[in-house]
Amino acid sequence: LVLLKNVNKHYGELHVLQNINLEVARGEVVVVIGPSGSGKSTLCRAINRLETIDDGEIRIDGVELPAEGKALAKLRADVGMVFQSFNLFAHKSILENVTLGPVKVKGMKSAQAKELAMSLLKRVGVDNQAQKLPAQLSGGQQQRVAIARALAMQPKVMLFDEPTSALDPEMINEVLDAMVTLAKEGMTMIVVTHEMGFARKAADRVIFMDGGQIVEEATPEEFFTNPQSNRAKDFLGKIL
Ligand code: ATP
Ligand code: MG
Repeated sequence: LVLLKNVNKHYGELHVLQNINLEVARGEVVVVIGPSGSGKSTLCRAINRLETIDDGEIRIDGVELPAEGKALAKLRADVGMVFQSFNLFAHKSILENVTLGPVKVKGMKSAQAKELAMSLLKRVGVDNQAQKLPAQLSGGQQQRVAIARALAMQPKVMLFDEPTSALDPEMINEVLDAMVTLAKEGMTMIVVTHEMGFARKAADRVIFMDGGQIVEEATPEEFFTNPQSNRAKDFLGKIL
């Protein structure tokens, strides 16, 4: 479903993505892990075309990323993204935050968008907050709204870039639980996170990145109990 072939990107002298090859099948959950600055966010942003790449190819469901215009907007709708910061529209209600995309981008009727939004908010456990403004919600609730908002576009794949790293510890699990449920329902997911509990519960595969390269790929069980490379061993030694 997601295919990256020989993807390279530089920021000036810095070779931030080095010959990345990655294939994610439909329904597969891939956790991306690695030290700060290893290129994890850049990889996510490249898949969504929030970043350009220098060479190589990125395909979603067989379609190469278009550079701009309507085709790009459509493709972006296929790729849901949830960031560390929730980026909700501060002056719109929770419900409006979720209905906006389907109405504006997909041309969905308002009543239908509302129905969809309420069912998604319910799925992540915040339907009782629908009339509030983002600032009236906890961080964990806001992040679950951000997930519902991304799902409202009916994406083929969901990208998560450290979705729980800005949250207080007691809120991390409510967001991870929503993500585990999504994974179990068969959503294709690429998740940058250091939450091993999530990786163990939901990931089919762990990818370890360092210095712009994919250094190691394994099942969560293999990776956490028996990392192969010294770089992965070092890294796990620091976070465990
Ligand atoms: P973290 O765990 O801290 O989020 P990361 O693995 O997500 O790190 P990236 O954000 O992808 O890392 O950054 C990879 C490298 O690219 C870093 O060295 C970073 O400083 C550099 N970088 C990121 N964005 C830019 C930019 N817009 N211009 C120049 N350099 C950048
Ligand atoms: Mg990052």
